Formats: sequence, structure tokens, C-alpha cells
Amino acid sequence: MMMKIIGKRMLAILGLVFLTIVIVIVMKKDHKVTTKSLFAMDTYMELTVYGGNSEEAIIAAEKEIYRLDALLSTGNEASEVAILNRNKEGKLSEDYAYLLKRSKEIYEMTQGAFDITIYPLMQAWGFTEKEYRVPDAGEIEKLVSYIDTSEILFDENTGIVEIPEKMQLDFGGIAKGYTSSRVAHIMKDYGVKSAMLNLGGNVQTVGTKTDGSMWRVAIKSPYDDIPYLGVVSIEEKAVITSGNYERYFEKDGVRYHHIIDPKNGMPVQNELISVTIVCEDGTLADGLSTALFVKGKEGAMEFWKTHSEAFDMILCDEDCKLYVTEGIKENFSTELIYEIIEKEE
Ligand code: ADP
Ligand code: MG
Repeated sequence: MMMKIIGKRMLAILGLVFLTIVIVIVMKKDHKVTTKSLFAMDTYMELTVYGGNSEEAIIAAEKEIYRLDALLSTGNEASEVAILNRNKEGKLSEDYAYLLKRSKEIYEMTQGAFDITIYPLMQAWGFTEKEYRVPDAGEIEKLVSYIDTSEILFDENTGIVEIPEKMQLDFGGIAKGYTSSRVAHIMKDYGVKSAMLNLGGNVQTVGTKTDGSMWRVAIKSPYDDIPYLGVVSIEEKAVITSGNYERYFEKDGVRYHHIIDPKNGMPVQNELISVTIVCEDGTLADGLSTALFVKGKEGAMEFWKTHSEAFDMILCDEDCKLYVTEGIKENFSTELIYEIIEKEE
């Protein structure tokens, strides 16, 4: 009788121990984290992926980033973009065709503020080779006449494209956002439920944090004495910033940076320091961060009021004041002075 009770107890204890071990293993597997830093698309990237499949997922992600970099890099003569810029016609790969389609949509929705035919101007200002110069007015005027996305002849059914003789395309304003959304898809294919992808300050999250809470993404600050502009709490979204402090040169006391106004061929000079877009669609977020920078503070606010269902944004102006759209006001915190942008006053 006694033996029987001890036996049962022992069995129960052993069972419990076994169960605990299993739970610990499962939890460990789930809390496994793999990180990877890499340099691609001219920027530092950091991928942080949680869960059992994180190592395999990161290997696949890295492969995808290098694949897209090789495909989209204007500076690499063997890239599909460079080949089309030389040949002026061709049949596009799936990625290129998708990016062209999206770029045309963003061009239309922003009334031409986003225009991928900007490339000859990027070259003229020296941003492509990092040999900066200020082109003269005549040169700028001539190159501006080559800018016009509406002149790209593209047949979505066949994938065949043709561009005018002097035109050259540049996906620099959208490539990282597209890449981050592709990588997020890869994460899903590997069953990843929690990941933070940082592509040079362009952040894309997957799922939630491992404890189910929201991600907290800090928005980069251009000021040395302010560590970040604020923190936005999100679930699965892209948070993409374009700033005039990212890539620029100075000549005779004037700062020229790498976002060009397609209307006059000049690096944008307005009251904005940075534009941050929060959106489910990384490709759109990247395109809009560039386009709304071109539009300026008032233009960006007006634009948001008619597209408020698609995205939210945080603008930072030269007085270090923030403008935050009402859609994220509950999920944004900052120490700086800010104003909420409302749909209707
Ligand atoms: P970053 O590359 O620093 O993240 P952006 O997303 O704003 O910043 O992209 C800037 C890049 O977009 C430029 O380097 C250039 O390749 C391209 N670009 C510049 N002006 C425009 C424009 N008006 N429309 C579309 N692309 C642009
Ligand atoms: Mg952009």
C-alpha cells in the first residue's frame, strides 16, 4: 500500500519535472533571438528576430536584401536599373515592375512630388558619386526637362517598358521601404511572430514584442543634444523617416541635401527637418517620406487630411517643433513641443 502511494507520488513528481523541462525548452525556443548587422543599400542595417526559426529566417532575409541591392543599385552597372537606364527599353523583372507600378501611383497621388525620373539631377549634384557640386542654372533647367514619370511607357501585362532617350530612373526614394516589406514577408514565411528590422533608420516591425506588447520605435533626432524626437508605439508597421540631415554637403554656407524638388531640380529647402511616416505598407511609407518632404509642412498636412486612412506622420520643423497626426496621438510620446494635426478643424 505504502509503496503504491510513493510510486504514484514519484510518478506525479517525475511528470511535473518532465512538464517543466518541456515548458522551459519551448519558452527558450520562443525567446531565442538572432541579430544580424549588415551593410547594404549604402546604409547599416540591423535585423533582430525572435523565435525558433530566427536563424533560418535571417539567412533568407540577408539573401533577399543583397538580391534587391544588386537589382536596384543605380551605381552598379550590372543592376537591372542601370541596364534599363542605358538601354532605354526592356522587359522588367517582377520586383522592378512592381516598384515601377508603385512609383507611378505615388507620383500621381503626390502630384509629382515623388518622381523616380530624378536621377540625372542626382548625378548633376554629385550625390551618386559623392563628388558634390552646384550645377549652374542652365544645366539644371535642361535636366529638369527630362523629369517626368508620366512619360514612362509601361505595359503592366507584358512587363515591357520604354523611356525617353535622356531619362534615367532611380528607386532610391522607395527601395529601402520595399526591401523592408519584402523582408517582413520572408519572416512570415518562416513563421516568425516577432521581429524588428532596421534598415538604416527605416524601421519595419513584424508582429508584436514576444510578450505581446507593442514595439516602441524611437524617431531619430538630427540634434546632438536631443537623443530622439519621440517614441511611437506600434504593432506591425513601417516607420520611415526622410531627413535633410541624412545626406548633404555644404557650399558657401548653404546646405544641399539629397531630396530634390522635381519642379525646379533644386535640393528641397523648406521649414522641415524631417518627415516620419507610420504605415502598414513599407513601400508607400518610403515614397511618402520623400514626397512629403518635397511638399513641405503645409503641403504635407493638407495631403494627410485627404489620405488619413492610409498613414500617419510626424513632421519636425526647423524650430524643433513636432506636428503629429491625430491617428497616432495616443501612441506617440515626446518631450518636445508638439501640435496635433486633425482631420477637420
Ligand atoms: P534615405 O534614402 O536617406 O532614407 P529618402 O527615402 O528620402 O531618404 O530617399 C532619398 C533618395 O530618393 C535620394 O537619394 C534619391 O535617390 C531619391 N530622390 C530624391 N528626390 C526624389 C524625389 N523628389 N522623388 C523621388 N525620389 C527622389
Ligand atoms: Mg523615401
